[in-house]
Amino acid sequence: MSASAFVRALAERNRSPRTPQGASWIYVPYDQLTLERGPLSRANPADTCVVFIESADKPSRRRYHKKKLAFLLANERHFALEVAERGFAVRYLTGEASFAEQLTEAMREHRPREVLLQRPAERELREELASVEGLEVVPNELWLTSEEDFTSACGASPPWRMDAFYRGVRRRTGVLMDEDDKPLGGRYSFDGDNRQRWNGDPPAPVPPRFEPDAITREVLALIERRWPRHFGALEGFAMPCSSADATAMFEFVCRSCLEHFGPYEDAMSDDDATLFHTQLSSLINIGRVLPSAVVTAATKALDEERAPLQSVEGLVRQVLGWREFVRHVHERTDGFRTIASDARPSELDAHEGLPPAFWDARETGLRCLDRTLSTVWNTGYSHHITRLMVLSNIATLLGVEPKELSDWFWIAYTDAFDWVVEPNVLAMGTFGAGPVMTTKPYVAGAGYVHRMSDHCARCRFDPTGKDRARPCPLTPMYWSFLDRNIDRLAKIDRVGPAILSARKRTPAQRERDANVLARVRARLAAGEPLEASIASDPTIVATKTVARRAKK
Ligand SMILES: Cc1cc2nc3c(=O)[nH]c(=O)nc-3n(C[C@H](O)[C@H](O)[C@H](O)COP(=O)(O)OP(=O)(O)OC[C@H]3O[C@@H](n4cnc5c(N)ncnc54)[C@H](O)[C@@H]3O)c2cc1C
Ligand code: SF4
Repeated sequence: MSASAFVRALAERNRSPRTPQGASWIYVPYDQLTLERGPLSRANPADTCVVFIESADKPSRRRYHKKKLAFLLANERHFALEVAERGFAVRYLTGEASFAEQLTEAMREHRPREVLLQRPAERELREELASVEGLEVVPNELWLTSEEDFTSACGASPPWRMDAFYRGVRRRTGVLMDEDDKPLGGRYSFDGDNRQRWNGDPPAPVPPRFEPDAITREVLALIERRWPRHFGALEGFAMPCSSADATAMFEFVCRSCLEHFGPYEDAMSDDDATLFHTQLSSLINIGRVLPSAVVTAATKALDEERAPLQSVEGLVRQVLGWREFVRHVHERTDGFRTIASDARPSELDAHEGLPPAFWDARETGLRCLDRTLSTVWNTGYSHHITRLMVLSNIATLLGVEPKELSDWFWIAYTDAFDWVVEPNVLAMGTFGAGPVMTTKPYVAGAGYVHRMSDHCARCRFDPTGKDRARPCPLTPMYWSFLDRNIDRLAKIDRVGPAILSARKRTPAQRERDANVLARVRARLAAGEPLEASIASDPTIVATKTVARRAKK
C-alpha cells in the first residue's frame, strides 16, 4: 500500500532517532484512536514506540463500503501523525498480511521489551490477535460500564433487558440523578415523549463537511485503485478524519443537534436523512469522540438550559444505555454463538436471501426503502429508525436470514463493527436471536412509516390501502409475517393484540397476504421494481365494478 504524502508527513514528525529495538511498544488498533484513554494516555513518549498496522487482508474479507475504508484508514493515518507530534516514536506497518502476521513479524525483528494492547472491541480482531505470542492485553478503557454493571442489573443469563441495565448504570454513575438518588424529571426514560413527526420546522441543521487533505486524498486514491468493486460511492467523501475534524463535528452536535434530538428521534424524512441525529457513531466507535464526552456534554447542556431533559435523557440513554448494553450482550453470547453454535441465529426460521437492491441500491418502488438504500449507498449512514423500521423491518417481513442481513449492515455502514452490528441486527432488528435482549420483533405494516415520515406522499403506493389500485404491499406482508409466525409469537405478551387481530383474518385474506408476499419476494429477487398494483386484489376490484355497473 503506497502512501507518499503520509510517509513524508510521518517522517517529518517522526524525526526522533529512537529505534524501536528494546523499547516498550503499544499497538493501537484501528478503533482505539485516542490519546486520552488506555496505556497511551499514560505512556512516556521518551521510551515508547506506538505501532499501527494497515492490513489489506481486512478489506479483502468483506466488501466494506468504500467510505468506511476511507474513514478508517484516513483516521488511522492522521492519528499516527498526531501521536508522532506528541513525541512518540511511531512504527506504521502496511502490508497484505493480516494484523497478527505483521505484528508477529515486527516483534520478531525488533524484540520490544513489552507490547501492550487494549483489549480490542471487535471479537474478530481479538480472535486474530490471540495467536500473537508475547502480546499483553490490558482492559479497554473506552467503555463506560463494567461486566459487573451488566451482571448486577441484568443477571448472568438471558433474557437481558436494556431498561434494567440503564437504570442500574444511571444509579451507579449518578448521571441525570437528583440528590435523593431519583431520576431527574421523575422518570428514567422519556422515550414515550420522543415520537414526533418532523414537518420541516424547526429546520434540520446542516452537518459540516470536511474536505479531504492530501493524506486523505491519497487514501481515497488507494481505495479506488485497490477495491473499486467494494460497496457504495466514494465520491463526495467529506467525513471527519483528524482530531480537529472530530472536535468540530462534536461541537456542531452540541450546538445544533442536541436541543431537538429527543422529540424527532423517531422521525424520518424524504428531504433530510440525518435530521437531529448526531452522526457521531462512527467517530465514537473508533475512539475519536469519547462516549464519556458525549454524556458530559449532554448533561452540561441541560444544566445550562440549552437543551430540554427529554433530549438530553434521549441521548444519554443511547450512549450510556444502548451502546454499552449491546456490547455486553455480544460478549456474553460470544457473538451469539451461545444462542446458535454457527453464529447464525434464526428464531423465526427465516432463510430468504437479501434482495439485490440492498447491494446496489437499485429502485424497488418502495419509496421508504429506496430512499434509505440510496442514502446508505452514498454515505454509509442512515439513522436508527431507518435501520430498524425500514431496512430491518422490510427484510424481516420478507423472511431474510438474520445473519445475511447483519453481514450486509457490517459492510454497508461506516460505524459497523461486530460487537455493535450483530446485537442490533441479529437480536433487535430481526428477532433472530429471540427474546435474548428485546421483548418482541420490531415489525410493522405501512402505518408506521406513514405516521413517522413523509416518504409515503412520494410513493407509488398508498399506505392507507384505500386506493385499491395501489395499496402498499408492506401491510399484507406484515399480516403474512404474523400468520407464519403465529404460534411462536403467541407466547409473547407484547405481541398479543397483533396476534389476536391476525387470528381474526379470514382464510381468503390470509391467502391474499401470502400471495402478495410471494409476488414481492419474486420481483425483488429478480431485481425488478414492484408495479403499483402488486398488492391490489383483482377479485375485489372486479366485484365492486360489476356491482356498480349492475346498479346503473
Ligand atoms: C438494524 C440496526 C443496525 C445497527 N447497526 C449499528 C452499527 O453497525 N453501528 C452502530 O454504532 N450502531 C448501530 N445501530 C445503532 C444505531 O442505529 C446507530 O448507532 C445510530 O443510528 C448512529 O447514528 P447517530 O450517531 O446519528 O446516532 P444518534 O441517534 O445521534 O445516537 C447517539 C449515539 O448513541 C449510540 N447508539 C444509539 N443507539 C444505539 C444502539 N442501538 N447500539 C449502539 N449504539 C447506539 C451511538 O453511538 C450514536 O452515535 C444499529 C441499529 C439498528 C436498528
Ligand atoms: S407507501 Fe409503503 S412502501 Fe411507500 S413509502 Fe409508505 S410505507 Fe413505504
